[in-house]
Amino acid sequence: MVAYTPDKIYVERGVADSWITRNVLRRLPATPVEWLEDSRTLLSASRRAGPSLAAAKRSLVLARHKGRFFKDCPAGRSRGERNVCCNYFVVNYASNCHMECSYCYLQTHLNFPHLVVYANYPDLLQELEARFESHPSTPFRVGTGELADSLALDSLTRYSVPLVEFFSRYGNAILEFKTKSDCVENLMGLDHGGRTVVSWSINPRAVQESDEHRTASIERRLRAAERCVAEGYRVGFHLDPMIHYPGWQGDYEDLVDEIFRRLPSRSVAWISLGSLRLSAGLKAFMRSRFPRSGLPLGELVPVPDGKLRYFWPIRVRMYRSAVEWVRARSPRTPVYLCMERPGVWSKVFAQAPPDEKRLGRSLAVTAAR
Ligand code: SF4
Repeated sequence: MVAYTPDKIYVERGVADSWITRNVLRRLPATPVEWLEDSRTLLSASRRAGPSLAAAKRSLVLARHKGRFFKDCPAGRSRGERNVCCNYFVVNYASNCHMECSYCYLQTHLNFPHLVVYANYPDLLQELEARFESHPSTPFRVGTGELADSLALDSLTRYSVPLVEFFSRYGNAILEFKTKSDCVENLMGLDHGGRTVVSWSINPRAVQESDEHRTASIERRLRAAERCVAEGYRVGFHLDPMIHYPGWQGDYEDLVDEIFRRLPSRSVAWISLGSLRLSAGLKAFMRSRFPRSGLPLGELVPVPDGKLRYFWPIRVRMYRSAVEWVRARSPRTPVYLCMERPGVWSKVFAQAPPDEKRLGRSLAVTAAR
């Protein structure tokens, strides 16, 4: 991964004493700092100046999260026929990402173009504590990778440390870091208690090289996974978004094969599958930002959730193949689909999950074994 070095750091005065703020400022002593009363003034200024996304990402903002950190994962909500929900929860500890995947939905999703880290992590932990303690028999799976990569900034912030230590105290919760980086240094030596899964979004090398700019190479991601397994963490993989291109079968099968050759299957908590999905706005944005990418040229058709996706028989073929490859190497590893409707689930697995809550619970319970 290309390391992130911002041109400027903006700090809200309200988080000046935060441990996260101190970590960042200590790691970047030469970067200019501007103090703000409220980062929303920066947003208004950015709206007027209209910096390019690449330029805006060069500013790092350390702010207080003004709303709730903890939310239901929005993937189950969709227009038209709804997607199957796997009862996942997200905490938005940061928003935006310095890496540049051509297909990243954040490019058109966020209304604040800068990279923001919410430094008031004690409030985040307090929210989680209230939730976990008031529902002691509910197993929670919680991820930090919805609006940002979970670990890409960890060498600056060290955000992972209090999170891993916090989750190690709760028998009813699993934390998932989802990343395309190889930043696992801070996870080494932590007392994680088996409650953290470190997972990688992963694609064949050809896709990483053409469309996942500034991310860690596949080799580095797998080496980072090996380090985590050696530290007793379970790991996960998200083959998402799967890309349909000439030769995809061979490349994806080789990738699945490599995962299970390099990692013991009992250390793999889950594998999820998803395929390329673009809003019409994102497709146009990709064309202008990444004119060499062939991804928008695929056989994409509009579907009821308002997105462009591969025609469903193509998606079903890709998912079925991936399920077979995983099952042939590790029959007990849970495999599930992300952001897919029940009809597609039934074509891939013979039936859609009859009880979605049970699906989420079983993933949480298996991960903790
Ligand atoms: S790593 Fe994830 S969050 Fe970052 S640009 Fe790629 S898809 Fe977006």
